Amino acid sequence: MPTWLPEFSRDAHPYGSLAFYPALSGGQPAAMDATPCGLAHSTESPNLPGYEGGATNPNFTIDPYRMARRQHVPANVGSRALRGSVAIACAAVQVEIVGYCDKATATKRGHMAYYLPDLGEAGLKYLAESLAIIGKACGIPATSSVKWKAYPASAGVDNGIRLSLAAFKSYAGWLGHQHAPDPNFHGDPGALNMTRVLQLMQPKPATQTLEMSWAAHARLRYVLGQTTFPTVGVLKVDTVTPWQQRMGTTDDGVVSNPSSLVAAVQAYLSDDSIGYSLKASGAWDTATRAACEDYLLNKNGAFTR
Ligand SMILES: [Zn+2]
Repeated sequence: MPTWLPEFSRDAHPYGSLAFYPALSGGQPAAMDATPCGLAHSTESPNLPGYEGGATNPNFTIDPYRMARRQHVPANVGSRALRGSVAIACAAVQVEIVGYCDKATATKRGHMAYYLPDLGEAGLKYLAESLAIIGKACGIPATSSVKWKAYPASAGVDNGIRLSLAAFKSYAGWLGHQHAPDPNFHGDPGALNMTRVLQLMQPKPATQTLEMSWAAHARLRYVLGQTTFPTVGVLKVDTVTPWQQRMGTTDDGVVSNPSSLVAAVQAYLSDDSIGYSLKASGAWDTATRAACEDYLLNKNGAFTR
């Protein structure tokens, strides 16, 4: 089990000299279980909380609104954001997520911008990336087999979704404070979109390359506003990502369906009088290529091969 993760900040806490503490057993830091689960909390605040002077800090805090992440205590010891025995504390790597699952409180405080069920795709991506770092380091699979409930139905000892201590200790994957054993009664992180977060945490499929003619590739990059042009016809992430952004789809740079991408590009360029066709693969004849090159040179004097 690792201690401090380099991707997480350990710089001075905004509350000054505030110290953070691990769960203790016999006055000593209590060792994390060998195969812990990952547990998500929500801070019910619009920013990094003080954690009552270190009385209730987790191992990590992720702020998906400001794209910031901090680590408070090593990953190989239990932390303090759960109630109950040290056995509970050491079964889970605890992660507080800045934001609210309690809509009533967020509304009352004028903090609905931090209502986690409304967290947008960029925040969900940052959260997924951060949880994936923790999961990889601590051996927590990017899965969840518990039922997630919205707050306030998720609150209370008898919310119908809490695990027994034994089930909690042997659970693999991610769950929330709402699943932690009695005497825990909090319902966070509520209706945070964990389905999407877990989806974004999955390892990316190997990027499929898509061979176009050089000229078609250059033309595509030109219409996407790219200022450098390819020397080969293989589409890579630096073309696919701007294309996805232009189309408003998930911009992960991954071509999951080459033939549909070709069809979309072809439709997109179809108003062009250049007289070429796009193919998923295959060589282009010299005349077509020359026509494309002339066209591009005329359209963009800075164009280079
Ligand atoms: Zn909590």
